[in-house]
Amino acid sequence: MSIDQGARIVIAGGGIAGLSLALALKQALGEEFAVVLADPALATAPRTDNRAYAVAAGGRAMLETLGVWEAVAATAQPMTEMIVSDSRTKDAVRPVFLTFDGEVEPGQAFAHMVENAALIAGLKSACERVGVELRPTGVRRFAAEDAGVDIVFSDGARAEAALLVAADGARSKLRERAGIGWVGWSYGQSGIVATIGHERPHHGRAVEHFLPSGPFAMLPLADGGRLGHRSSIVWTERTQNVPALLSLDSADLLAEIETRFGLELGEIALESAVSAHPLGFGVARRFVDRRLALLGDAAHLIHPIAGQGLNLGLKDVAALAETIVDAARLGLDPGSPDVLEDYEKARRFDTVAMGAMTDGLNRLFSNDATPLRLVRDLGLGLVDRLPGLKRFFIREAAGLAGAPPRLLRGEAL
Ligand SMILES: Cc1cc2nc3c(=O)[nH]c(=O)nc-3n(C[C@H](O)[C@H](O)[C@H](O)COP(=O)(O)OP(=O)(O)OC[C@H]3O[C@@H](n4cnc5c(N)ncnc54)[C@H](O)[C@@H]3O)c2cc1C
Repeated sequence: MSIDQGARIVIAGGGIAGLSLALALKQALGEEFAVVLADPALATAPRTDNRAYAVAAGGRAMLETLGVWEAVAATAQPMTEMIVSDSRTKDAVRPVFLTFDGEVEPGQAFAHMVENAALIAGLKSACERVGVELRPTGVRRFAAEDAGVDIVFSDGARAEAALLVAADGARSKLRERAGIGWVGWSYGQSGIVATIGHERPHHGRAVEHFLPSGPFAMLPLADGGRLGHRSSIVWTERTQNVPALLSLDSADLLAEIETRFGLELGEIALESAVSAHPLGFGVARRFVDRRLALLGDAAHLIHPIAGQGLNLGLKDVAALAETIVDAARLGLDPGSPDVLEDYEKARRFDTVAMGAMTDGLNRLFSNDATPLRLVRDLGLGLVDRLPGLKRFFIREAAGLAGAPPRLLRGEAL
């Protein structure tokens, strides 16, 4: 077994959360501070995940500060408007209950649609440039002691670190291994994701139809594809219906999509493979343990109804990077209980609040009971008429409410 001396922080998981943290730490702390990121998926480029994310203004400011935004800017689509409607699947007219104009500040869109593959590629090459050690292996096990954490990778190599960050996704094995409990449930729903080409432009408008089986979101992507314009769909469907839908031939599947997508954008076509992701809710009982911090989906899993899952993870990155960098600059141990507690305090409340909000929204909207329809339509109509409340929601969703960490404000660490 080889032993790597001097690894200070080891991050398990090279999704967007893990890669962003590695980059933020290495950029701020430089050569003296070793940052290792391990993920078996690093060996399988390019990634094939067809998801696209609504990255909120705070996350975008962070990616800009980290020098990654320029790699995705050409294909990032600003969201200029968001429309919410409540209807049954076959309703020809879908009443609009809520509209948001998409600016947090004048000239600053509250979110940009960014494609997963472009963002992962941009983050990975930025990590390589600044000298993050990228290891195409998993973290198999670890043993934490007061003095440090001993990490064993799946190829048998070992490292000593001050801190291990578990960014290994919602089914985090590291969280399990640390004995950290998980409060969660499945929604019995899956998110069907695909890129759709269409004839007419979307003008940067995101549309979310609340249908009885769950929300159907049409999210604007940068122009391209065979028909000139593209959108990403997230179609929430009861999981039991998904295998039959995915086994349809492409013409029949497209017809099902068209029933939900509507005819406003003209002819539509499938521009990508269609994938389905089971949806659930979960929050870790603790975000930290001895020399361990949970990051991103390893700490929390929420329904994509408000497009906030990754945004929560980016807020974790901003908070954890700031806490570690400030401690390291003062010569403090970045894996000490005080530092980890600061991180947990910074993130716990926001995470639970957003989790409860998305869970409530999904329960309220994923059904067809008439009294519930009346209540929710009344609620949406009310929000629509109160500009102060709308501004609050927009700033909240953008990650700019309260006193955000420096990276979310676009300031370097
Ligand atoms: C249908 C759908 C639509 C969504 N839309 C949005 C949206 O619009 N906006 C938004 O903000 N969020 C959205 N989300 C949520 C978003 O996809 C997730 O929150 C985000 O991808 C989580 O990123 P992550 O880096 O925390 O974890 P992941 O992307 O899950 O990455 C975890 C990584 O850990 C690696 N790994 C696993 N085990 C180990 C190990 N032992 N050692 C090392 N590495 C390991 C894996 O290979 C993987 O690369 C959506 C989710 C779904 C399902």
